[in-house]
Amino acid sequence: MPRAHKYDVIVVGAGGAGLMAARYAAQNKDVKVAVISKLYPTRSHTGAAQGGVGAALGNVSEDHPEWHAFDTVKGGDYLTDQDVAETFAHEVVDAVYELEHMGLPFSRTPEGRIAQRKFGGHTREFGKSAVERACYAADRTGHMILQTLYQQSIKDQVTFFNEFHVLDLVLEDGSARGVVAYELATGEIHVFHAKATIIATGGNGRMFKVTSNAHALTGDLMSIVYRRGLPIEDPEFYQFHPTGLYKIGVLLTEGARGEGGILRNKDGERFMERYAPSIKDLAPRDMVSRAMYLEIQEGRGVGPDGDYIHLDLTHIDAEIIEERLPDITEFARIYLGVDPIKEPVPVQPTAHYAMGGIPTTIDTQVVADGEGTVVPGLYAAGEVACASLHGANRLGTNSLGDLIVFGRRAGIEAAKYAARVDYEPMPAGVDERAREELERIRAASGSERAAHIRKELQDTMMDNASVFRTEATLAKQVEILADLRERYKQVSVEDDGQVFNTELMEVVELGFLLDNAEQLVYAARNRTESRGAHSREDHQDRDDDRWLEHTMVYRNDDGSVRVGAKPVTLGKYEPKPRVY
Ligand SMILES: Cc1cc2nc3c(=O)[nH]c(=O)nc-3n(C[C@H](O)[C@H](O)[C@H](O)COP(=O)(O)OP(=O)(O)OC[C@H]3O[C@@H](n4cnc5c(N)ncnc54)[C@H](O)[C@@H]3O)c2cc1C
Repeated sequence: MPRAHKYDVIVVGAGGAGLMAARYAAQNKDVKVAVISKLYPTRSHTGAAQGGVGAALGNVSEDHPEWHAFDTVKGGDYLTDQDVAETFAHEVVDAVYELEHMGLPFSRTPEGRIAQRKFGGHTREFGKSAVERACYAADRTGHMILQTLYQQSIKDQVTFFNEFHVLDLVLEDGSARGVVAYELATGEIHVFHAKATIIATGGNGRMFKVTSNAHALTGDLMSIVYRRGLPIEDPEFYQFHPTGLYKIGVLLTEGARGEGGILRNKDGERFMERYAPSIKDLAPRDMVSRAMYLEIQEGRGVGPDGDYIHLDLTHIDAEIIEERLPDITEFARIYLGVDPIKEPVPVQPTAHYAMGGIPTTIDTQVVADGEGTVVPGLYAAGEVACASLHGANRLGTNSLGDLIVFGRRAGIEAAKYAARVDYEPMPAGVDERAREELERIRAASGSERAAHIRKELQDTMMDNASVFRTEATLAKQVEILADLRERYKQVSVEDDGQVFNTELMEVVELGFLLDNAEQLVYAARNRTESRGAHSREDHQDRDDDRWLEHTMVYRNDDGSVRVGAKPVTLGKYEPKPRVY
């Protein structure tokens, strides 16, 4: 028998989005709230966020939420839902002040206000020049957010189930009733019965070879909902961040360019002047990553193999670097043995952020189709979700903003819903599917190893479906994925024990990653245009007549994939060519 639990609101995930949701749900004293997390909360990836959270506070120079909303829509290559961007740009201002009042130690201006710096794609007066909008705590902004929110959640008496892996969602007659989870310490299966379930499980960057993402970012719930027949929105829009440390992908924040850092090719040329004459190195990430690849392709890459670019900070005052970018300076010294104060740092684009995800309304309710039919009792927020704030390309600092704005909305909405409805019955045997899958893996005797399949997945996704794509590379990747999926069935484990069986969980996570890759590749093959982070060498133009719509990818009952659409919510900003 599974261990059974009952909570009005269950939050899956304890990153910024999950903790914000839990906190706000817990403000409603009539609802009992629990958070389930496969990691100890403060190990969530939000803690690795460096550069800042964007909000038009105007502390350093004039700024307005309208400018922020416009930048978000333009940065998203007009695939952003404009009502979402407008609401976001206004609410994020309050949300940042709330974090300040919770005690978050932001860096400060000389007058004592929250310090702000420049970041890619954030401009004054609708694109005129770069504006200081990113509120930061040195280059540890996410760490400070996570610690602050965790402290507050403890104070608010939220119950935590740490190192519990959610393996399934209970979806009966179209409504969500909770989740099934595996307790790492004991190997026990638990069933969590809930009136409202909030999914806040973060990204899926581990499907690529070079990534800034932590090991745990395996897209678990994007796969679980997909297996239950729900769609994933816009998965083809996957962001590569321009400045990952060469070969290892560890991130150097865009804040480095916000503080004046410059990208240079092997001739020492500041090549971004050619690609984005007005904001240069602070163009949106999709543009900068593509420019870097083109420089390398055309023989202007740095190094013996000509396959990286230099990030040059040597002209910046050493004190500023040490004070505002201490962590990334250490990363460069430790991992590459390069001191950014004295010499340029070798960088290359690194897989960073999923713009797409589980589709939601502006109030974070999960939707089941292109018509926007809501799934009662199911909410999603943070990187796992797609509200669609980021459209085809996210601006730096807009993810932390997304977490606090939509995490808060999810908590409030879910608690309201839970206070209003009764528990729907929990059918017996909801844990069987998860149990059978684990038994199957434990009992398998095939010779395949998860590590080999994962490596092939990551290598081939990098080759065939990263910054540039074509019909040929995507068709090839579809075949590779089908083959990897067959081989996955033969994966066996050496550890068949119950206690802390991390090997077993890695196999389960690999299954999730394979689904995430499938969603991305089918969507990318379907969209025969280039927009934002989705760049097709065989369809280089943006095509608004045909493709100004969201993608919705579904898995049919027979295992085949179906690609549908969902309308974009337009608004006052007419789609225009994206020039910076
Ligand atoms: C290195 C780095 C730097 C970044 N810097 C910035 C920045 O400066 N500004 C910015 O705006 N954005 C930045 N980002 C992006 C941003 O940090 C992330 O998008 C954001 O933190 C994601 O938060 P989240 O709450 O959605 O998920 P996460 O913080 O990733 O948390 C996910 C949670 O889900 C849980 N979970 C996952 N699967 C399961 C499961 N199956 N069962 C139970 N629990 C599960 C995990 O335990 C974890 O608690 C950065 C990202 C990286 C990788």
